[in-house]
Amino acid sequence: ESQKETLGFQTEVKQLLNLMINSLYSNKEIFLRELISNASDAEDKLRFAALKDDSLFENDPDLKIRLDYDADKNTVTLTDNGIGMTRDDVVQNLGTIARSGTAEFLKQLSGDEKKDSRLIGQFGVGFYSSFIVADAVEVFTRRAGAPVEEGVHWESKGDGEFTIENVDLEERGTRIVLHLKDDAKEFADGFRLRNLVKKYSDHISFPVVMKSESEEEGEKDKYETVNDATALWTLSRSEIKDEEYKEFYKHISHDFEDPLTWSHNKVEGKLDYTSLLYIPGRAPFDLYNREAPRGLKLYVQRVFIMDDAEQFLPLYLRFTKGVIDSNDLSLNVSREILQNDSTVDSIRTAVTKRVLDMLSKLAKKEPEKYQQFWDEFGTVLKEGPAEDFSNREKIAGLLRFASTHTGEQAQTVSLDDYIGRMKEGQNKIYYITADNFMAAKSSPHLEVFRKKGIEVLILSDRIDEWMMGYLNEYDGKQFQDVARGDLDLGEVETEEDKKHKEEAAEEHKELLERIKTALGDRVQEVRVTNRLTDSPACLVVADFDMGAQMKKIMEAAGQ
Ligand code: ADP
Ligand code: MG
Repeated sequence: ESQKETLGFQTEVKQLLNLMINSLYSNKEIFLRELISNASDAEDKLRFAALKDDSLFENDPDLKIRLDYDADKNTVTLTDNGIGMTRDDVVQNLGTIARSGTAEFLKQLSGDEKKDSRLIGQFGVGFYSSFIVADAVEVFTRRAGAPVEEGVHWESKGDGEFTIENVDLEERGTRIVLHLKDDAKEFADGFRLRNLVKKYSDHISFPVVMKSESEEEGEKDKYETVNDATALWTLSRSEIKDEEYKEFYKHISHDFEDPLTWSHNKVEGKLDYTSLLYIPGRAPFDLYNREAPRGLKLYVQRVFIMDDAEQFLPLYLRFTKGVIDSNDLSLNVSREILQNDSTVDSIRTAVTKRVLDMLSKLAKKEPEKYQQFWDEFGTVLKEGPAEDFSNREKIAGLLRFASTHTGEQAQTVSLDDYIGRMKEGQNKIYYITADNFMAAKSSPHLEVFRKKGIEVLILSDRIDEWMMGYLNEYDGKQFQDVARGDLDLGEVETEEDKKHKEEAAEEHKELLERIKTALGDRVQEVRVTNRLTDSPACLVVADFDMGAQMKKIMEAAGQ
């Protein structure tokens, strides 16, 4: 099928292209980072594939990325000698978006540049960002190891369709030619391109080479490396600037915005690995999609092995991005092997601690940034107490709640804050769960607490009641659901209160019995309480019964 075909982009691609070109207009230069990032990924993939079959190098083992421009023709050309693509790969990769949920995501885009550019940042635009600066894009590519005739030429004006045909290509890998728009001619300039490479791609693992601009005899037109070309995580922390950490994050994460924080560690001894872990500033649009890619980029002895290695992190830390470079694992390691490998288990335990420590540190040193983290990822972290028994206390310390102290829906109160405000004699951490914040806040169960000035945490996320099932205590203090069982206010309940309650129970014995008879099986017990100040009565759940929220979840599941 060497003949030329014209194919339409998938609808989602068309939408993305339109929206992206508008919303990233003031952010044009990122196209180069995206293309270099892809070229670097392609080199990584080739090096990995060549571990098994070194004929894929085709006598050209010197992996590099070449950047050329032509100021007369207004073109910028990026060439890599990486893995390349087959014709089918090209149709798939450069004509569709494979992530599920894309269509719904795109519906949220409004046409408002600021808002959309943020949303698109969560999504990542990748290759399609070429069309921010180019009104025509050509791709020449041949898969490593495929015959010369299986080269592919792809071309599009970004207007809804593309053409594809087979051409002879001597060199494996991918060449992308951008025909610059009038308002993007500035990029056909050596100085500008060099700056962008330094700025965005200094510490990718491969050299980016450009023709020398020197006029000297013998130097002119010779290719020279313009980036540092050492993988960032292999440098020592003191050599790395914050800006470089941030750019590297964007390179590996497909995110446009800066990370909130990071942690870079070389571990030697029983285990021998380097980890570079990042906390993103914004949740990806598919955070709750179980199929969405997650995990770290895995390298073994600096050789890229795979993206999205899930085994190095528990699910509740799935927002973490980063790189693991292990000297203990074998270059042949596969996903299957990762699943039952004791080295991997040890690294995972250590990495989990690192992430939790990084978050604790952020919470202490930069509470505002921590709050941003919480607002984006808090509900994911709430899966932690159930999933990770051994780190429950640490995770609990990272939780943030709404509370009667602030009276606001925003989850800003930590357990340490709460404990710091506990009344003398109070020995429990009180909380209430409800379907929504307003219902919880106006619950009669809170009356006595208000009267006594005792703070109650207000939990109204879907996951909360379930989570509390896994949290028994924090800092030696038990959690107590205020809607459960016989309320014990500890020392805060005075002898007088207790006496009063007992007297009332005695005095109204008959009434209590009459109510119990009237309600029959619908209640277990009717008793006098100090819980209420204004309301005449309230329902409570026995200590070991399912909570109201849990009941609803079970009912919805048909139980
Ligand atoms: P992402 O990099 O997040 O996968 P992109 O839109 O940047 O998304 O690229 C889409 C896909 O196209 C890549 O996953 C890859 O399979 C393919 N691709 C893009 N550029 C290259 C390249 N230079 N060499 C080989 N494959 C590439
Ligand atoms: Mg990409």
